[in-house]
Amino acid sequence: MSVARTILLKISDNQWLRANGTKVPFVRRAVSKFMPGESFDDMLIAAKATAAEGVQAVFTRLGENVKDLAEAEAVATHYLEGIDRIKALNLACEPSIKLTQLGLDIDRELAFGHLRALAARAQAAGTYLWIDMEQSSYVDVTLDLTRRLKQEFPAVGVCLQAYLFRTRQDLEDVTSRGIGVRLVKGAYNEPPDVAFPKKSDVDANYLALAQVMLGAGARAAGARAVFGTHDLDLIKAIRDHAQGIGLKPAEYEFHMLYGIQKPAQLRLVQEGAAVRVLIAYGEYWFPWYMRRLAERPANVWFVAKSLFG
Ligand SMILES: Cc1cc2nc3c(=O)[nH]c(=O)nc-3n(C[C@H](O)[C@H](O)[C@H](O)COP(=O)(O)OP(=O)(O)OC[C@H]3O[C@@H](n4cnc5c(N)ncnc54)[C@H](O)[C@@H]3O)c2cc1C
Repeated sequence: MSVARTILLKISDNQWLRANGTKVPFVRRAVSKFMPGESFDDMLIAAKATAAEGVQAVFTRLGENVKDLAEAEAVATHYLEGIDRIKALNLACEPSIKLTQLGLDIDRELAFGHLRALAARAQAAGTYLWIDMEQSSYVDVTLDLTRRLKQEFPAVGVCLQAYLFRTRQDLEDVTSRGIGVRLVKGAYNEPPDVAFPKKSDVDANYLALAQVMLGAGARAAGARAVFGTHDLDLIKAIRDHAQGIGLKPAEYEFHMLYGIQKPAQLRLVQEGAAVRVLIAYGEYWFPWYMRRLAERPANVWFVAKSLFG
C-alpha cells in the first residue's frame, strides 16, 4: 500500500477530523467533485440528470459508526422517506446503506430492526436494497444480517471486497443463496493478515471473483452481479469474459461513483452495458471523502487547487 494511501486512510479514521474536517472551506469546495450536495434534493437533481443520460442511480446518505439511538432512528426515517419520494417520482434509484449508520455499534438487533423496516419499504416500492461493506471487523455481522434479511426479502444485495482473503468463500456462500453482490476492491486500511497488501493481487482476485459471479451457479441462484469499479482494464476483462461465455450485457452491471470516470460511464451505456452511479450526499462526508482521496492520491491536487478558490 502506498504511503499516501496509508496516511489518507489514517486521517479518515481520526475522530477530531471526522467531526471538524467538513468545516474547512477549501475542503468543502474540493468535495463537490464527488458529491452533488449535502441534501436529498441535491442527490435527486443529480439522479434525474444521470437518468436522462441512460445511467440509473444508487443513493447513499453519508454517515457511519452512529453512537446514538435517536440518530440511528433518524437515519432509518430518512431512508424510509427517501424510498417513498423516489417511488413517487418513479425514479429507478436504489438505496445503499451502512449498518453502523443504523446503530450496529450500539445494538445489533436494533440495527436489524431498522434494516428490516427499510427492506419492507423497499419491497413495497418495488426497489432493491443494497448493504455497504465496512471495515473487516464488520464482515461477519454484515453477512449474518444480510442472510437473515434475504429469508424474508428477495431483493437484497451486499457489497463484498476483493482485497480480503476471505471473500472467495463469502462470495460462494452469498451467491448460492441468490443474494446480489456488488463487488468492489475495498476502501479501508486493512492489515496484511486479512487483506492482500499488493494492488496487483487485489486486481487479480477481483477478476477471479467476477468470473465466479458470472458463473452458472451464481446465475442459477438468481444473484445479481454488480461490478463496482472504475478500473477500465478490469471492466474490459470482465466484459470479454462475459461475452466469451455467451452472456448479454444486460445480465450484469457496472456501478461507479458519482463524479468518477463519467466519459467511461456514458461510453459503456452507448455500448449496451447496464451502468449505475452511486450518488452520496449528506453532511457527514469527511471520512468518506478521505477514502476517495486515498483511492487516487492525485486527487489531493484538487484539494490544493480549491485552497486558492
Ligand atoms: C458503486 C461503488 C460502491 C462502493 N461501495 C463500497 C463499499 O461498500 N465498501 C468498500 O469498502 N468500498 C466501496 N467502494 C469503493 C471501492 O472499494 C474502491 O475503493 C474504489 O471503487 C476504487 O477502486 P477501483 O475499483 O475504482 O479501482 P482503482 O484501481 O482504485 O482505480 C482504477 C482507476 O479508476 C479511477 N479512480 C478510482 N478511484 C478514483 C477516485 N477516488 N477519484 C478519481 N479517480 C478514481 C482512476 O483512474 C484509477 O486509476 C465502492 C465503489 C463503488 C464504485
